[in-house]
Amino acid sequence: MECTETDCEAEAAVELHVPWGETRPVCAAHARVLSRKDGVVAKPLSSADDTLPDGATD
Ligand SMILES: [Zn+2]
Repeated sequence: MECTETDCEAEAAVELHVPWGETRPVCAAHARVLSRKDGVVAKPLSSADDTLPDGATD
């Protein structure tokens, strides 16, 4: 599964829960950026637990 952000072809590692939008899979790098916004929750995809960098879901 690929990251759903525009022009990003990285492997999705996190499921991003966005209160004002759709839940979507994104890569760890995008999860780090997007999850800083209020209300956004980043949940690791179960299949990617081992590859998730530290802090990606913080
Ligand atoms: Zn991405």
